[in-house]
Amino acid sequence: AWANVPAGPPDPILGVTEKFKADQSPKKINLGVGAYRDGKGKPYVLPSVLKAEEILYKKMLDKEYLPITGLSDFTKAAAKLAYGENSKPLDENRLAITQSISGTGALRIGTAFLARFYPGAKAIYLPTPTWGNHIPIAKDSGLEVKQYKVKRYFDKETVGLDFEGMKADIKAAPEGSIILLHACAHNPTGIDPTEEQWKELSVLMKEKKHFSFFDMASPRFCAYQGFASGDIVKDAFAVRYFVEQGHQILLCQSFAKNLGLYGERVGAISFVCADKEEKARVDSQLKIIIRPLYSNPPIHGARLVHTILDTPELYKEWLVEVKGMADRIISMREKLYNKLVELKTPGEWGHIKSQIGMFSFTGLKPEQVDKLAEKSSIYLTRDGRISMAALNESNVEYFAESVSKAVKG
Ligand code: PMP
Repeated sequence: AWANVPAGPPDPILGVTEKFKADQSPKKINLGVGAYRDGKGKPYVLPSVLKAEEILYKKMLDKEYLPITGLSDFTKAAAKLAYGENSKPLDENRLAITQSISGTGALRIGTAFLARFYPGAKAIYLPTPTWGNHIPIAKDSGLEVKQYKVKRYFDKETVGLDFEGMKADIKAAPEGSIILLHACAHNPTGIDPTEEQWKELSVLMKEKKHFSFFDMASPRFCAYQGFASGDIVKDAFAVRYFVEQGHQILLCQSFAKNLGLYGERVGAISFVCADKEEKARVDSQLKIIIRPLYSNPPIHGARLVHTILDTPELYKEWLVEVKGMADRIISMREKLYNKLVELKTPGEWGHIKSQIGMFSFTGLKPEQVDKLAEKSSIYLTRDGRISMAALNESNVEYFAESVSKAVKG
């Protein structure tokens, strides 16, 4: 029956793991996966999550189906986390929200909704570069993919955001275009607009009547004031600011990275609507999109997130744990930078320290990436992105030495 099915290419990110697994070297490193690892290179289950598991276990809850839009205690907590306590769309009951199969599922529902209901041309503008899966998700939902720059090319002058290029492209897009924005910790570059730049973008997006489609997939995992004291406002700055400014945004949330709940597939998608009545109509169509896709979402991860976010002691504990993950990543950024400089590796490496989030966009060229795999059993995507979380005390020096050799040629 399948004689005419052509073999497809492997997924560019998951394909890295396949090659890593096939390698027999004891020194091998997989820098492709976007999942946090502890100081020993092992997956990390947050202690707050384990405590929530215990609480849930003792309750002996049933495993009945959730409604199509998921666990409402969870979606309420997720909305409060992203939009803040005193957000107008929440107070005025005009936020349409549904649970989703993690961030990917949120993106899929969001793009499907836009393909069905967004007035005018069905194109979505994605940043260049962006998370690889954005492109097929948008296409499979029936949207045409266009791109705007966040980064022109990688060199000394432009290790940061190409803000002028980004603005020029957003300006050039036809009025009323859909623009996807990474809310924080841009994947793969680890470079975000500053708060001042977000404010400028908000003005520009308004002038052009563009639609803001926010993807908030990961915490910044960087040191900043406020996090340990129990606030996530920095991560949520862009989202909250745009909403305050009256943008009726769409927001995709994932609890994979910030709670380490990768495999639980827990996320949410929300639409800021004009009023209660519009929200009710959007809600009804979200149900119509989701029902034939997967009927209703899984229950356990949503219960875990709700338990953590709505139990004050667990919430506080969680924030400290995120800070712990952030601190470990930052110390790896410093070690890697220092070692590369010590080895007199040609090039400028300051971006390793200034980038935020789980990833670093190293600037390594595809041929250097290939060399790292061949000569040193080190695996990463060919765009030069590495997961900082995969580095630890036992492999960071080996990695720096291998990079140095690959760059020196
Ligand atoms: N958006 C971005 C930008 C991401 O980096 C990721 C995961 N790496 C996702 C969405 C989706 O992840 P998940 O489906 O695991 O929540």
